[in-house]
Order: sequence, then structure tokens, then C-alpha cells
Amino acid sequence: MLRTLNQAGDVRGKRVLLRCDFNVPLDGDQVADDGRIRAALPTIKYLTGLGAKVIIISHLGRPEGKPEQKYSLLPVAKRLADLLGQPVEFAVDTVDSSAKLAVEKLLDGDVLMLENLRFNEAEASKDSAARTAFAKELSTMADLLVSDGFGVVHRKQASVYELAKLLPSYAGYLIQGELAVLEKLTATPERPYTVVLGGSKVSDKLGVIEHLLPKVDRLLIGGGMLFTFLAAKGFNVGKSLLEVDQIQKVQGFMHQAQMLGVNLELPTDVIVASKFASDADFEVVKSEEIEKSRFGSEGIGLDIGPDTATRFSNSIKTSKTVFWNGPMGVFEFSNFAGGTKAIAEALSGVSGTSVVGGGDSASAVRKLGFSENAFSHISTGGGASLEFLEGKSLPGLEVLSDR
Ligand code: ADP
Ligand code: MG
Repeated sequence: MLRTLNQAGDVRGKRVLLRCDFNVPLDGDQVADDGRIRAALPTIKYLTGLGAKVIIISHLGRPEGKPEQKYSLLPVAKRLADLLGQPVEFAVDTVDSSAKLAVEKLLDGDVLMLENLRFNEAEASKDSAARTAFAKELSTMADLLVSDGFGVVHRKQASVYELAKLLPSYAGYLIQGELAVLEKLTATPERPYTVVLGGSKVSDKLGVIEHLLPKVDRLLIGGGMLFTFLAAKGFNVGKSLLEVDQIQKVQGFMHQAQMLGVNLELPTDVIVASKFASDADFEVVKSEEIEKSRFGSEGIGLDIGPDTATRFSNSIKTSKTVFWNGPMGVFEFSNFAGGTKAIAEALSGVSGTSVVGGGDSASAVRKLGFSENAFSHISTGGGASLEFLEGKSLPGLEVLSDR
């Protein structure tokens, strides 16, 4: 059983380290998408409302264990202050004297953010002794830990894993909410249950397919991974994304789907482009005729075709539970955003549970102008939700559980 925030007892006057996932996209020194910050507000407000001294810790991007201005959390602290309507103090380091001094100055109900955890090499180190030492330093600054960075619970990192062993630790509301939705998807989905997969890495998503096939009614394949499926059917795919070493595995899935009576739906048409660029020429072709476009064997598939988009939309709209991870095409280029837009539209019309998971998928639906209320849930975790759906045990959750 997960230990949750409400079991933390009286937190008034207590120093609470709050691990968030504020790894948000930045545009210069501005936050470009604040979805993950807004998702953390309920826990933060709960803690400040009870008079806790809230010390927020997070990572941002992938600095290599040392400070790098472009990965500073300062823009995040500013946006959080706007959203909270109260000042957010900022410490320019994580465990050094200025951070400690800032903690000492906190009054009940105050909020402080420490600088990027990953400016410290030990945070994401492979060496568990180094992680433990860093976690010990962090732990001296607080009385308890609230873990609420759902997007990082699949990582065995100092602030996610070791720290939770050193302090009384509890899951926050974001983690609880994410788990409630994902557990419903894995345990008792209303049927028909459809999973839509896209994005760019076939190998990343194969684990999910293996685990999900026996559970779903329909599996829709788009995005960069669709070409490995087409290749597995013996079609030529030009210069499209292709993972040759996965073809055999994918053939196994097609066979498994047939045995299980699962509808494995593949695109029947795709949009082929002259090059990987926003201003590329393009043409709609049948899936088996990718190399018959005017670009020949140089053509690159960048989106599902319109017929496929319609067929997928129908399968989605007639489902009662839909989980979608991974854009259908290169939505960053407007000519190749049509498939992703159609799927988002269909999802928004589902009369049941509709979940969008994944960093790029979530930012795609916001960028394409969909309201967050159009879906039952937009998960803040990409890798984390996928690993959960795969049935893997997640270290950051395990450590918050009593056996
Ligand atoms: P998420 O973050 O939602 O889990 P991924 O990271 O797996 O999604 O994939 C997102 C990326 O996949 C997007 O940047 C998109 O441009 C890319 N993508 C989608 N379709 C294709 C394609 N046909 N070829 C190359 N890249 C693609
Ligand atoms: Mg991604």
C-alpha cells in the first residue's frame, strides 16, 4: 500500500521536501508549456494551507552533473509564483550553504525552490553509494518528503529513491491521481478497450505491446513505428524510420494478435515526403506503395494517411476506454500534423475513459489547441506511464509502499 500525503500527520511548521517533476519545455527563459507545474498545484496548496514549510526539488533537462544556466529552474519558480499567487523563494544551489540558509529563513506556509537537482552529479549517478550520500545531504534539510514527480518514478535516482528511504515519505496528490487512472486501465477497463501507439521509438514501445496485447480489443499503430510493421508485412518503406532488428519481433506480435483475436490495425495509407523538413513536398500513397510515389525509394513516411485517420478515428470513437501514447506523425511540421490532430479529435469524443500519455503527445494536444478537459486524463509521465502499463515495478513507487 502506498503511503499517502494524508497520513503525514500534522505538518504545521515542518520542513517538507517536495519532489516534483518540473522538467518542462523552455523557450529561452520562459516556460513554454506549464502543464507539469499546474499539475503540482493541489499538493503544494494543501501543504502551504496546513502551514508547512515547502521546499521544492526537481530536475530540468539533462545537464551533465554541473550547473548550466540554460537548465536553471528559476523560470519555473517564477511561473509557479504566478500560478500560486504567492512568492516562491529561489536558492541558487541544491544542498550548499545558500540553500540551507534559505531553508532556515522559511516561515510556516512559505515556498522555496532549490536549483536543479541534476546540477549535482550524484543525483542520477549509477553508483548507489554516491546517490545515498547526496540523498543524506538533502535529508538533513527537511523533516519529511512528499514525492509527487510522477514523471520520474521509474528512475532510481537519489531524490526519487534513496531520499525516500531516509525520511518519512509519502506520495502526493499528483502521483495518487495518475495511479488511479492507470490502475483502472490495467485492471478493469470498460470495453472495447483500444490502445493507440505512435511516436518515434519502436523498441521503447515493444514492451508495452507485449504486455497489452492480451488485454486490449484493438491496437492501433501509427507514428514512426508503423513502418517496422509495414516492413514486417513485406512492404518497402523507402527512407522512413525503420528498426530492421525488430521486424521479427513485430511479426511475432502480428501472429499473437491473430491468436488472441485482437484487432491490430495498421495504416492502409501514409503521407510520404521528399525529405524530413517542414517545407518538404508530399504525397498520399497506399501503404504497400510507399516507394511508388514520385520520390521513389527516397520517400520518407511522415504521417498516417487520411483514410487511415478516418478508420482509426472510428475505432477510437466506438471504444469505451482509450489510451494513446505517441504522435501519429511529425506533428511539429504542420503538413504532417493531420493524423495526430484527427486522433486527438476522436479521443476527445470518446464517451468513456480517454487518456493521453507521454511528453510529446501531451504537448502535441495542447499545441494543436485541444482543451485539457477534452480528455479524461493527460498523464504527466511518458516513460513512467508506459513502464507502469508494461507491468514493471517502479522504484519511486516501491519505496513509498509498505508491504
Ligand atoms: P511521447 O513523448 O508522447 O511518448 P515519443 O517521444 O515516442 O512520444 O515520440 C514523439 C516524436 O515522434 C515526435 O517528435 C514526432 O515528430 C515523432 N514522429 C512521429 N511520427 C514520426 C514519423 N513518421 N517519422 C519520424 N518521427 C515521427
Ligand atoms: Mg517523447
